[in-house]
Order: sequence, then structure tokens, then C-alpha cells
Amino acid sequence: MRSKGRQWRDKVAIALIYPNQPSVGMANLGFQTLYQRLNQRRDVVCERVFLEIPEHGEMRGSPPPRSLPRSRESKSPLNAFDILAFSIPFENDYINILSLLSLSHIPLETQDRGPDFPLVIAGGMTTFINPEPISPFIDAFLIGEGETLLENFLDAYLKNRPTIEQKDLTPLLEIPGVYVPSLYEVAYTPDGLISERKASPPAPSTIQKQVEKDIDRFVTFYTFPKEASEFSDMAIIEVNRGCPRGCRFCAAGYLCLPFRNRSMENLLSFLKENRPREKTIGLLGTGVSDYPDLVPLSREILSLGYRISFSSLRIDRITDELAEILKKGGQKTVTLAPEAGSQRLRDLIRKDITEEEILRAVDALIRQDILNLKLYFMIGLPGETMEDIHAILSLIRKIRHTVLSHRYTTKRLGRITLTISPYVPKPATPFQWFPLLTLTGIKKRLAWLKKTLSKEPNVHVIADLPKWTYVQAVLSRGDRRIASLLKRVHENQGNWPRSFKESPINPDFFAYRSLDTDETLPWDFIDTGISKSRLLKEYLQARQQIASF
Ligand code: SF4
Repeated sequence: MRSKGRQWRDKVAIALIYPNQPSVGMANLGFQTLYQRLNQRRDVVCERVFLEIPEHGEMRGSPPPRSLPRSRESKSPLNAFDILAFSIPFENDYINILSLLSLSHIPLETQDRGPDFPLVIAGGMTTFINPEPISPFIDAFLIGEGETLLENFLDAYLKNRPTIEQKDLTPLLEIPGVYVPSLYEVAYTPDGLISERKASPPAPSTIQKQVEKDIDRFVTFYTFPKEASEFSDMAIIEVNRGCPRGCRFCAAGYLCLPFRNRSMENLLSFLKENRPREKTIGLLGTGVSDYPDLVPLSREILSLGYRISFSSLRIDRITDELAEILKKGGQKTVTLAPEAGSQRLRDLIRKDITEEEILRAVDALIRQDILNLKLYFMIGLPGETMEDIHAILSLIRKIRHTVLSHRYTTKRLGRITLTISPYVPKPATPFQWFPLLTLTGIKKRLAWLKKTLSKEPNVHVIADLPKWTYVQAVLSRGDRRIASLLKRVHENQGNWPRSFKESPINPDFFAYRSLDTDETLPWDFIDTGISKSRLLKEYLQARQQIASF
């Protein structure tokens, strides 16, 4: 039952909730910028809420917390707010939404929440990939980038507050990007495929993902608080959104399109006016290395007396000039993402980098005395064979050889850290139709890599646990029937194996099935701006490539 904090008077009180640990949420730029923007409105008060859970959370099988969740600022419980706004960047956090609601004595499902309970909304990357698995728990999703969308939503909320508080959400439907799942019915064939998706008028049949057309009209900037100790001396500034590269597996690449850059002038004048106290400026963006003025901007930032850091860099963009900037910027470790060991697999995923470019980038970095490399690889990619896995080892050996060839000049040896992640097929990408590789296949590849790489000096391997890959695939490609599985996992205190056994849902149907190209997919109703036919063309090309291997 709702009992609103008196201190907020007539303001709309929003609990902005990051359904994971504070240290993770505090380091999330999207979450923190929303918090800042909401509090800039005079008619809104926004406070932050996190799930205080042990490392890795309920998703990893830890028992959920028991205490009543409260906001950071006024220590208010969730029921004191008008709106609960979940920011959800990862599917892994779905289960934490249920924990937060139930600990707050708020019914889990929309249909059981009357006017006495806050409005529950959600946004963030996973929700505009595929919101369906959590749709029964959320009153309204905001599909797309948050800035204008959230402003428009709040304006509509304030204009129609009494109606919306009675849980009639019709006035919100005027806002492009607002998705009210309870206004849709989904029917299934006896085989479990979607046969029909019916919208109750005036709900639109398609929801258009919202993007900020002109990101240059505002600056996204953030400094980290104490909790995010890893970044405590860094200020982050976003340089661009979207990525022009189109790697076939990459959800971020497809979902953040179109590619948009901020002007260097605006970024620099912001930094000069505000003079952040932190020592390092981190440049952030989906396609940072494709920022057209990356080199001049970096040089200017260095000339202001800052160190510089990049969220990620494409291997083919690491020139001698950029390596020199990285060195001057104080970077001791650089992260590179070859993604696959063999050329044929890199071509298949459209990574568009050659082995020569990888080794040239390593060489340029080592010559600048940047000796520590973090390398990202995926296993279980479509069409992958053990030969491609062996190619990872051979590439690492060539990289080590390049590093060692400089040992007389550098006098030191750095560390090569490999992060190996099993590939999970993501909605709204060309690879959405491919199945997840079986857990047996993933384990076999991982075991071989761990064993062989452990014999390579100075090479360290970090790998995700395969069983969580399976859970992620189920949540990623699931439809609204998955909500009942989530409820069961919640009741079983995070015990996924037991819940899989008890549930009538067959999780393999979502994880291991090759999806038919003509079937209706659970997320097809979201217009991401990239047509299904474009994704399909890429998928069919990839299949042809696999057939010709
Ligand atoms: S993997 Fe990197 S380069 Fe490729 S589309 Fe995604 S963000 Fe862009």
C-alpha cells in the first residue's frame, strides 16, 4: 500500500532503480545521467535504489536479500514513490526486479497492482531488444534512448495524473516509444510458435524505438562516486552513439543505430568550462574509435593536462599515432576484441579485421611500452568448429611472439588476459535466428582453451560459466511465457535447475532452436529502425558462408 513521502509535496516522486549491486549501478553512465536529468526538473524528485546483494546476485544462485529496499537519498521504501523506474541493461537482472518488488510488498504482476501501488516502468538496453519475458511485471516500457522519451512520458504523466494513478494508461499511448504490454494478447500455435499478436485499440501494433536525433544539443558527462572505486579518478564524456560497422552478432551495434557523433567543439568547450577535478577523461561511445576527430580531440584533452582513456578501440584503428596518444594518456592496458581466432570466422561475423591488423596493432602498442593486453574472444559462434578454437591458441602465440620480439627494448613483459565468453544469439541482429551452441559443445571448447592456454607463459584466462550462458539465451530469446519461469525461479530463491525441472516451459525451445525465418518473433513488434529484411539478408549470407566452409 502506498504512503507517499510528505517531504515531496506535489512533486512526482520517482525511484530510479538499478536492479543490481550499487557498485555496478553507480558505474553505469546511462543510469546516472537519467538520475541527473530527472532531478533537473522542478516537478520531479528522483532517488536511486539498488539491490543490495552479494557479488553476482540472485542470478548466480545466491539467496536474495531479506531487508526492505530503500532509496539511497531519503531512505524511503519503494511504496513511498509515485513511479518505480527500472533501468535494465542486462537480462541477468530480470530476476532481481521480482526480488525488489516482493521485498517491498508490491504485487509482482501488473494485473494485481491497483491504484494504491506505484506505476512500474522500465527502460534500458535489454528492454528495447526484447521486453517480453518481463512484460507481465511492468506497467509500461519506454523503448529507446531515455532523454526526450522520458521527458515526453513525464509531461503526459503530469497532464493525466489522476487517470494514470487509477491505472488507466491510455493517455501514455500518445507518446511514441511507450509500450503498455497489458494491452496486447499473444496467441500460440500447438507447436508453441506465435500465431497472433493482438493490440487493444488505441494501442499501436508496432512500437517505434526512440532515438535522439541530435545528440549535440546536450552533453552526457559523469563523474564516479566512491562506490565505483575502479573509476574513482575518472570523468566520462560520451562522444558518440551507434556503430557504423555492423558486426553480425552485435546487439549494441544494431540497436544503437544510427551512428551519431557530437562535435569536438562542444565537447571541448564543455570540458574547458567545467574543468573536471578527476585526472582522467574517459571517452565513451558505441563506436569511439570511429569518432571522426578522435586524434585531435584526444590531443586537446591531453593538452588540458588530463590523462585519457577509451571505452573500447577497434583493432584496425590503432595506428602509431593513436598508440602514442594512449601512451601519453597514461594507458597501461589496452582492450582489443578479435572476437574469433580464425579469419574465416572473423569474416563470417563481419568483424572485418585481419590477423595482420591485429599483430600490427599489438606491435604499435608494445613499441609505446603498453605491455598489458586484454583480449576478448567468443566461443560457440555459428559455424564454428574446433579448428576455429585451435586458431585462438595460434593467434595468441603470434601475439606473444610479437610481444616477445620487443623484450630487449622494453625490458619487461606484460600480461595477456583473455576473456572468453560463450556467444548468445541476440534479438534484432542478423544472428537472431541461429541457435545457442549446446552446453556440451561450449564446455568442450572452454576446457580445451583453458588447458592449452594455461601452458602459455604470461597468459591469463577469464571465462564465463557456461550454465549462465544457457539462462541468458533463454531470457534473451524468450517470449512472455518466460515470465512464469522467472516467477518460479524467484519462488525457488534463485535455483534455476530446480525451476527448469518444475516448469512446464521447455527452455530448450528458446535457447537451442534454429528460428524459422518466416515465424513471428517475440520482439518483431519493435521497430528498431533496421528492417527485418536487412537482418535476414545478412543471416542468409552468413548461412551461405557456413555452407561453403
Ligand atoms: S562489435 Fe564493436 S565494431 Fe562491431 S558492431 Fe559492435 S560495437 Fe561496432
